[in-house]
Amino acid sequence: MERTTATRWLLQMPALAAACLLSSCETPPPPTDSSLVEQRQRMVEKQLKSRAIKHQAVLAAMGRVPRHQFVPEKLRSSAYADRPLPIGHDQTISQPYVVAFMTQAIEPQAKHRVLEVGTGSGYQAAVLAEIVGEVYTIELIPELAKQAKERLKQLGYRKVHVKQGDGYLGWPDKAPFDSILVTCGADHVPEPLIEQLKPGGTMVIPVGKSSANQWLEVITKGKDGKTNSRKVLPVRFVPLRREKGSPAK
Ligand code: SAH
Repeated sequence: MERTTATRWLLQMPALAAACLLSSCETPPPPTDSSLVEQRQRMVEKQLKSRAIKHQAVLAAMGRVPRHQFVPEKLRSSAYADRPLPIGHDQTISQPYVVAFMTQAIEPQAKHRVLEVGTGSGYQAAVLAEIVGEVYTIELIPELAKQAKERLKQLGYRKVHVKQGDGYLGWPDKAPFDSILVTCGADHVPEPLIEQLKPGGTMVIPVGKSSANQWLEVITKGKDGKTNSRKVLPVRFVPLRREKGSPAK
């Protein structure tokens, strides 16, 4: 039987696009699980290994955490793209490379207790939880804190403790921390965070007077309590804001 031009054309199209055309849907179908796993592996190879992310536990964690579960449903097909993505409330989940870079910068170890300021989606906290002993994370926006807490619980990340509040003040009850990772940009390094860092510990924080001139700084605290800071990467993070009525320090 001779095929019509239209059928021949349809047969030449990729199956998914054809299915979409026939049912006249507007958005592409959600990616299947196996394609997400492939996308994640490709992300590790193309975005991380090729850019000097060498820490084996960090690469393994980035290959395991289902980043697509941390982004809004309509952005799932872009979850493994080489860029930050919006997560609502004018906030973003960081680019995979930046998450890996910051995690590598604190030289994470299984026995470490880590503080994160700026939970956002909870993705960075999940990556940390794959490697370290305990993760304490603080989020200013109540809805984001609630969503991240539920998401992390659902995904089985029991080592992550989420708190709503002003992370500028740290988490004094749980201090001191082996490392502190700040995922919002500040114009100075908050003094309470320096105090809550263990001697010998490392903090990584975006610092700059404006988001156009912001650097990721790695701050180490010597055994004598003195700090030393290095600018390691130009970045652009959403700002660290203060909770209304929060003490200045
Ligand atoms: N680490 C996140 C992305 C962080 S975006 C992730 O993996 O998805 C920065 C987050 O910092 C935002 O959610 C913002 O609300 C939060 N934030 C800003 N100022 C804060 C503060 N003082 N304390 C705690 N969180 C803060």
